[in-house]
Formats: sequence, structure tokens, C-alpha cells
Amino acid sequence: MLIDKFGRKIEYLRISVTDRCNLRCVYCMPEEGINELKHTDLLTFEEIVDFTKCAVSLGINKIRLTGGEPLVRKGIVGLVKMIADIDGIDDLAMTTNAILLKEFALPLKEAGLQRLNISLDTIDGKKFQQLSRRGNLQNVLEGIDLAMKCGFRKIKLNCVVQESRNEPNAVQVAKYAAERGLEIRFIRTMKLSTGEFWIVDGGKGGNCSICNRIRLSSNGKVLPCLFSDIGFSVKEFGGCEAIKMAVESKPLKGSLSKTHEFYNVGG
Ligand code: SAM
Ligand code: SF4
Repeated sequence: MLIDKFGRKIEYLRISVTDRCNLRCVYCMPEEGINELKHTDLLTFEEIVDFTKCAVSLGINKIRLTGGEPLVRKGIVGLVKMIADIDGIDDLAMTTNAILLKEFALPLKEAGLQRLNISLDTIDGKKFQQLSRRGNLQNVLEGIDLAMKCGFRKIKLNCVVQESRNEPNAVQVAKYAAERGLEIRFIRTMKLSTGEFWIVDGGKGGNCSICNRIRLSSNGKVLPCLFSDIGFSVKEFGGCEAIKMAVESKPLKGSLSKTHEFYNVGG
């Protein structure tokens, strides 16, 4: 069992499988893109699976795959299958922008993915293009429709807002969610570099006192906290040791991070 210095039980691992993305959301990535990691800096699927086995043997039972955009990593369905086959995982989920979900929803479900969180900030096509800088909302909506038919245990929507759920875009997304019986969480735009973060409205994120998470970044570091620069390299320390060091270093409260970005640690 993993318990940190402040008595919090750590059971939840978020794995960022890539720093790449097919969108450029204004609050997440610069328009011109990022200095992408070299493929050799990404962990291989075998390394991610070995790492996940270490994590589960130490007490992790809930896993979320994220990115960047997890569906742009080649072979992602195979990775889901390998992780789903590990004994001891009670909850296996993915966060996605759903641009490619039409193609992937069924294979992901068949590979053992249990739940999906889909990012949807607006249901206005023009606004969606402005916010994502390149996305086509229709793909997302069709992806959601298809995913709803595939039998996932739960599909939640993540809606990023400036300040609150009362903003017009968020109100429309809430209505869309209610009409389909989907849960929704409103995430106020955060800034890692200046430590501006808030409790997620409708979720558990951002509430340090109940934080039960560690993260694996796309470049293979175990991070004790999104709002901290501390990280332990899996290649340097080995998976189990890096996890123990991260849990031991979990701060009571997040502060800020000059090195992490949402696209490389997954939010
Ligand atoms: N590409 C996938 C997606 O967008 O769902 C997964 C990765 S994305 C980094 C994970 C979550 O972080 C998304 O729900 C996204 O909206 C959120 N996010 C990204 N930048 C953010 C920011 N500056 N403040 C708050 N949430 C942010
Ligand atoms: Fe890509 Fe997700 Fe960041 Fe948008 S929020 S740019 S979809 S990683």
C-alpha cells in the first residue's frame, strides 16, 4: 500500500503516453506546436507495461491514459490491452479529445478500456475551431455518439471554462450532457507556471487534501504532483523505486511548476 507523509493513500496513476496532439487548444499548447520529444525519449509500451505492473504491485488500482492526445500514439489499442490484462486494476480509463474516437471507440472497449473522459468545451462548431485551433467538432460529436453505443462503464465530459460553469459555452455543453445522461466536470483554466489552480467543479482534481494520484509523464518521470517540478526518472531509478520516491516526495499542497505542461503530464 502506498501512503504518503501526510497519510494520503495513493491509488491512482495517470499515464501520459505522448506529448503530441492533433489539436492546439489555446489554454494548452502554442499554435506553432511544441518541441516534441524524440521517440527514443518516450517510454516504449513494454516499459510502460512493466512500470504499470510495479505500480499495481505497490497498491495502485486505478489507471488513466492521457497525453497529449493518447489516440495519436501508434498502437494505443495494444497498450490498452496489455494494461487491461494486468491483474489488480479496478478502473482503467482514458482522457481524449475524441477527434479520432469514431475509429477507436470499439477497439478500445474490446481491448478492455472501461471508462472515457472526453474533453468538450463548446458545442458551437466555430467556437470549437477557435478554441482548438484546428479541430472539427463534428468528429468529436460523432465519436461521442459511437462511444455511447459501445458499452463503456461511464463516459464523462471535461469542459474547460474561464471561470465558471455559468459561461454560455459551458451551459450549452451541460445541456448536451444532460440530454445524453453524461456526467460533466467543469475545469477552470489553470496555469502551471504561476501556480493558478482550482478544485475541479464536479470532480476531485485540484483538492490537495484528498489527492490520491501520481503521474507518469511522457518522458518517463514519475511526478508526485502536477504543481511541482519534482520528478523521478523510471529509466534512472527503475519503476518501483521511482514510484516510492515520488510518493515520499508528495507535497502537502501543490505550488507551481516551471517544467510541466498539460500536454506532457496530461492534466
Ligand atoms: N488530449 C486529451 C484531452 O484534451 O482530453 C488529453 C490530455 S489533456 C492535457 C487533459 C485535460 O487537461 C483536458 O480535459 C484538457 O481540457 C485539460 N487542460 C489542458 N490544459 C488545461 C489548462 N491550462 N487548464 C485546465 N485544464 C487544462
Ligand atoms: Fe491537445 Fe488535449 Fe492539450 Fe487540447 S487539451 S491541445 S486536445 S492535449
